[in-house]
Amino acid sequence: MTHTATLAAAGLTQADLTQGTLIVRSPIDGAELARVHETPASEMPGIIARAKSAFTQWRTVPAPRRGELVRLLGEELRAAKAELGALVTQEVGKITSEGLGEVQEMIDICDFAVGLSRQLYGLTIASERPGHRMAETWHPIGPVGVISAFNFPVAVWSWNTALALVCGNPVIWKPSEKTPLTAIATMRIMDRALARFGDAPDGLCQLVIGGPDIGAALVDSPDVPVLSATGSTRMGGIVGPKVAARWGRPILELGGNNAMIVAPSADLDMAVRAIVFGAVGTAGQRCTSLRRLIVHRSIRDDLVARLTKAYASLSIGDPRAEGTLIGPLVDRAARDRMLAQLDRARAEGGTVHGGQPVTDGVPAGAYVTPALVEMPAQTATVREETFAPILYVLTYDAFDDAIALQNDVPQGLSSCIFTLNLREAETFLSAAGSDCGIANVNIGPSGAEIGGAFGGEKETGGGRESGSDAWKGYMRRQTSTVNYSASLPLAQGVRFDL
Ligand code: NAD
Repeated sequence: MTHTATLAAAGLTQADLTQGTLIVRSPIDGAELARVHETPASEMPGIIARAKSAFTQWRTVPAPRRGELVRLLGEELRAAKAELGALVTQEVGKITSEGLGEVQEMIDICDFAVGLSRQLYGLTIASERPGHRMAETWHPIGPVGVISAFNFPVAVWSWNTALALVCGNPVIWKPSEKTPLTAIATMRIMDRALARFGDAPDGLCQLVIGGPDIGAALVDSPDVPVLSATGSTRMGGIVGPKVAARWGRPILELGGNNAMIVAPSADLDMAVRAIVFGAVGTAGQRCTSLRRLIVHRSIRDDLVARLTKAYASLSIGDPRAEGTLIGPLVDRAARDRMLAQLDRARAEGGTVHGGQPVTDGVPAGAYVTPALVEMPAQTATVREETFAPILYVLTYDAFDDAIALQNDVPQGLSSCIFTLNLREAETFLSAAGSDCGIANVNIGPSGAEIGGAFGGEKETGGGRESGSDAWKGYMRRQTSTVNYSASLPLAQGVRFDL
């Protein structure tokens, strides 16, 4: 399909594509797709005020009725899956099945949130005072700001929005300035759900387009009590303290430096498949991409040989083409950063396999062969997240050293171990094991399901989104005590007789 046809199928109009100055290019071939209108900073106070006003209505709508809106969104997403998935491929460069997979993730979180809308459970707590009842109730909190990264241009919005809506909150979304088109198309889908729903307040779901300055308006506003920000640790280091300083609640989903430990007992056939998908899937541009392999010395040469063979068979090229496994990096700057990091790794004693620009037989985007880098130690370069398909290979002898290496990076998002040894698997998952928000056994680090809480520790930011009880991050907790007795006893036996 041509770019023009993909844009039209996703519902983007000439006005969407031509009436602004923000240039959007496809990573597939560098072609200019659009010049999108950016939200003027002067409009941000009005947009936030609309969300604040929508909140006063939406918070009183019963939660299961709020769930109905999310159910309709899920239906509209199902109907638009192919078109939106193709647009994700066009704007981000993901292969077709990953573009579709991203939309499926949106559908999955809608399903989850619809069920949740009847399960925003509180607690009843035993009171120490006779004739008293204590309870804990969850209430809507207010407008939620969502700042998202380029690499999951629509799923991250849906993780936040499906939960925020059933929790009773409006949403203002600022997508990455690299991916406004998928955001505009997603809002059209949301608009269809809102129209079918009928009586949702104006300003419930808003989109603002622009760079960090527009994001900063959400970050700085006391009328945005929850600010969910997904992106680099550099961005989180600016945004997190600013939100905290105004007593807001940041939900930070930042960079990862995800590792796999491969133990001597590992099923190497499974491990190789998991490693290759984890390291080169999405061209290494997932927050959960596999970046470090910590391999037992006894199997290291065998595993590296198998990986080298597997890497040689990977098809690199147009992500829309059947059979392509590795599409382009998002832009040339990303490719240049990858090549510079490989030079640093070489200077630190690394042996680099692959990691070359690819220009023959591919469109005019930033294509690379994935790099496998044998490192003598976990150097400064290995400890950084490079958003590209670089996999560093490290060696261990003692299992405790493998866990220490896995944890000895600033980030704490995802981790995994391949082993058939129960003691190793359970130790890895124990309090003395992986320090990451996600820890898997015999599964790679990427490709999380919607049912679990997603996020990581340390410089990954500590935020949790999506499943489990992540919804609590979008509500305020109220503890109430009701006295139905005829006396007024004080807690802890305190006497205060008048
Ligand atoms: P980025 O940090 O460059 O930008 C992310 C978003 O933050 C964009 O919308 C950008 O406009 C905005 N932004 C940047 N500076 C800001 C500021 N000072 N104030 C307000 N907003 C600001 O990240 P990117 O290149 O788009 O995405 C890649 C990064 O995102 C990687 O580090 C990846 O690991 C991370 N990521 C993390 C998760 C997760 O769930 N942990 C998911 C996806 C991506």
